[in-house]
Amino acid sequence: MEKMPVLFVGHGSPMNAIEDNAFTRNWIKIAREIPKPAAILSISAHWYTSGTRIMDEANPKVIYDMYGFPPALYKVVYSPAGAPEMARLAKNLITKETVFDNTWGFDHGTWSVLVHMYPQKDIPVFQISVDGLSPAGVHFEIGRNLRLLREKGVLILGSGNVAHNLRLIDWSMKGGYEWAYEFDNYVKDNILKNEFKNVVDYQKAGDSTKLAVPTPDHFYPLLYILGSAEESDQIKIYNDECVMGSLSMTSYLFI
Ligand code: ZN
Repeated sequence: MEKMPVLFVGHGSPMNAIEDNAFTRNWIKIAREIPKPAAILSISAHWYTSGTRIMDEANPKVIYDMYGFPPALYKVVYSPAGAPEMARLAKNLITKETVFDNTWGFDHGTWSVLVHMYPQKDIPVFQISVDGLSPAGVHFEIGRNLRLLREKGVLILGSGNVAHNLRLIDWSMKGGYEWAYEFDNYVKDNILKNEFKNVVDYQKAGDSTKLAVPTPDHFYPLLYILGSAEESDQIKIYNDECVMGSLSMTSYLFI
């Protein structure tokens, strides 16, 4: 089986699910450039829990975990099959304590991206939660544990945003605040130098950190992807932009 790449996507506004824009076109392009996965493991910023949870449901529900958006967004039904067998394998690979949990479903961090990448819904998908109680290094380690899934045809997808501050969002702003670029560039430079340790220690970015990562929910998915990346991977960057002031859309493919 062909070894799968790993992918981090900056998902940005939920509206991307129903828009056709430069970001979503790149997501489609990525899907066309990589081998077709046997299954997809999504680590979404929006399943943020106490402890690590894995869904092993055969038919997960779809969750509309966003509020105040136009009705069209709540009509998107992205409902591929689950991947119980892969979920069990993933659980066995993770050395940290994990539990099965099917109270959640596919959230918009997952479906707003996959509805563009794989609109046929013909690839099974499962999610692993982001444990809000664990420090950055633990998330990187789980990514390392999950590396083997790449050889099983699983596309590991991290869905979040490198810089993400909802409180300071400016819906009408085109680019980003200076600190958003500063933090995004810190992460990018270190990824391109394969200095993943500096990304795990993201506080080293300095003053921009507190503004770009006021809470780590959208940042941590990136660490799973860096953990499952290998030095021999080629790094491709997409959507290298900041929008609405406080969001960076920068996405990384390790192939
Ligand atoms: Zn989000």
